[in-house]
Amino acid sequence: MAYRQIVTEEDPILRKKSRQVEKFDQRLASLIDDMKETLKRAGGVGLAAVQVGVLKRVIVVDCGDGEIELVNPEIISEEGEQKEQEGCLSLPGEWGVTVRPAIVKIRGQDRNGKWHIYKADGLKARCFCHETDHLDGRLFVDRLAQGETIHRTE
Ligand code: ZN
Repeated sequence: MAYRQIVTEEDPILRKKSRQVEKFDQRLASLIDDMKETLKRAGGVGLAAVQVGVLKRVIVVDCGDGEIELVNPEIISEEGEQKEQEGCLSLPGEWGVTVRPAIVKIRGQDRNGKWHIYKADGLKARCFCHETDHLDGRLFVDRLAQGETIHRTE
């Protein structure tokens, strides 16, 4: 496992759409392992492959109750609404209050291509939405609650 550099806001790759994963090979497994290592070292709760410069639909999430890897993730249902502070490892020092669903169901594959479904609320629901957004080139600053602005702590 190796740490990979996290790309930041200045890099236009963050606005690109990631591609569907079709090959479940050793290269994918290494990418996922590196993403987990990078997430752990950065002290975040979620990371999308595009944030380490790879345009593949892969995310890893760890909200303190174990690591989850999802390849080709898709939000399949949403309920309610939550407004909470959000930040991003690619936008260091920036945060804002976003609007997200309160509860989501997400499906995705693991490194072997097997499908899984997870249901989450609170931070984890937000995290699934935030990381899935990354795969479509969307950042949390696009989801700010009405009247909210981006705050900077530097
Ligand atoms: Zn992010």
